Order: sequence, then structure tokens, then C-alpha cells
Amino acid sequence: MDVKKIYMDADALLEGHFKLSSGNHSQFYLQSAKVLEDPKTAKLLAEALASQIKESGVEIDTVCAPALGGLIAGFALAQALDVRFIFAERVDGIMSIRRGFEVAQDEKVLMCEDIITTGGSAMEAATVVESLGGKIVGVAALANRGFCKRQNSDIATKPNCKLPQNIPFFALADFTFEMYAPDACPLCRDGNEAIKPGSRGN
Ligand code: ZN
Repeated sequence: MDVKKIYMDADALLEGHFKLSSGNHSQFYLQSAKVLEDPKTAKLLAEALASQIKESGVEIDTVCAPALGGLIAGFALAQALDVRFIFAERVDGIMSIRRGFEVAQDEKVLMCEDIITTGGSAMEAATVVESLGGKIVGVAALANRGFCKRQNSDIATKPNCKLPQNIPFFALADFTFEMYAPDACPLCRDGNEAIKPGSRGN
């Protein structure tokens, strides 16, 4: 499956000057919502990811996604795996599980995002799941930004990866474009203002 082509075809690989959720800047941004606006594409991607996960033999009771980014990918993946789906959301900046969702003791939970950069949001949500008694058995994403090693890829884990090394990370592709700290960003040096993706019509 050519995931890069799917992102390109959906105009979901944006070029500009973006401020990422990590605070870093990048010339490119992946707008997964544009890919997932077609339910058929979402289903195809989720089924490909699900078959990779099933092949690995990891047992899963529930998929959990951090809102908002992981919601659609997480739901589609849960559907493809035929397991329960819950989500975590920020309340006053703190990741929480609300909406009456319950997590049983030792329930096997797979965290899912649309894109994993350093995995920060996924791990914040994972900490909440664990505090309720759940067991994190893996992490999944449609695409990997190349900071964490995923299954079936040679890209090594970078120091800023926040995913634990003792659980598998599944993704369909690596997108390894550069990311800069704001004070070292060449686009800022050129005098352009970084914009938050999702704002100003992108
Ligand atoms: Zn910049």
C-alpha cells in the first residue's frame, strides 16, 4: 500500500511553515483528516494496519485514541480489529478519560494516533489508561514521522521518542521530513511566521 501516494492524492501533505503540537516547526504537515474524509480510504488504511497487527499476534481488547487527532483512525482501526473503541481527551490541558468509558483491570489496550511524531499525546493518554488498570500492549498509527522505530522498518529510534521500547509500534509508512526547534528554524530565520495547522484554512 502506497500511503505517501494516498496522502499526496488527498492533498494531505501540506507545504509551508508549520508549528507542530510539540512546539517544533516544520516545512511540511500531514493533514490526516483530509485522507480520512473518504470513509473508503479510512477503511482501507485501517484494514492494512489491522492485518499487520494481527500478524504480530498481539492480543487486543480495546483501541484507545487521544482526541482529536486519533479519533477517526482509532475508530476505523477498532472496527477493522473488531474490538471496543474508547478515547481520551484534554480537559484544561490534562488528558482524561470521560464519557462513562470504563477500563477493566488488565484490559489489553492498543493506543492509536493518526500520526506518531514523538508519541507524546499517545503516551499521556496511555498513562491515564494505566491509572485505571489497563495494560498498554502496543501503539499504532497510520504513519510514523520517523522518530520512533516501528515494526517492519529500519528507521532507528531517536532520543526524543516517547514510546516505550518494550511494546510494539505499528504504522503503515515513514514520513521523515525535518523538524526544527523554533530558535533554530531556517524558515523563521527567513522572516516567515509559523502557523498552527488547522488554522487559517489549512
Ligand atoms: Zn519556524
